[in-house]
Amino acid sequence: MSENAHHVMNTEQHQTKNAAETQQFAANLAAQLQPGDLITLSGPMGAGKTTFVQGLARGLDCQSAVTSPTFVLMTEHQGRLPLSHVDAYRLENLCYDAIRDTGVLDAIERGDGVTIIEWPERIADFLPAARFAITLTPAEGDARLIEVRS
Ligand code: ADP
Ligand code: MG
Repeated sequence: MSENAHHVMNTEQHQTKNAAETQQFAANLAAQLQPGDLITLSGPMGAGKTTFVQGLARGLDCQSAVTSPTFVLMTEHQGRLPLSHVDAYRLENLCYDAIRDTGVLDAIERGDGVTIIEWPERIADFLPAARFAITLTPAEGDARLIEVRS
């Protein structure tokens, strides 16, 4: 191991049977969150990323509704901590300045709240290391595999 390795990576896997279980899992994770935390949420369309954010927002006591309307890049919710919800789906192949102009990097750097990003791969070159890197994988029926790397 490198002498520069300060962090121990930990990977956990969970399975949920329906959307409510995914939201409950996310709500439980919210209790661990601290100001400045970044969460990335990977997985295909329909995997349950936005559903996960709904549970996380509930766990942070946010009152406003979490949705994913077309062409809305980032929404802010106020709870125990401010929550910035980003959907980077449309940010593919943008240069640094264009990403910077969206305000997504400002939200992360502000450090006072939690930022959660759907489709992080699309802006991966510009993101700092995430406190939680989560991947949702559809399984049989409504089951989803949730992998959490922290
Ligand atoms: P994404 O943001 O990844 O595109 P959404 O959260 O918008 O996905 O949609 C996921 C859909 O799948 C929702 O309609 C949700 O109710 C449904 N669903 C069924 N089972 C699950 C599950 N186990 N976890 C999360 N969502 C589920
Ligand atoms: Mg979504």
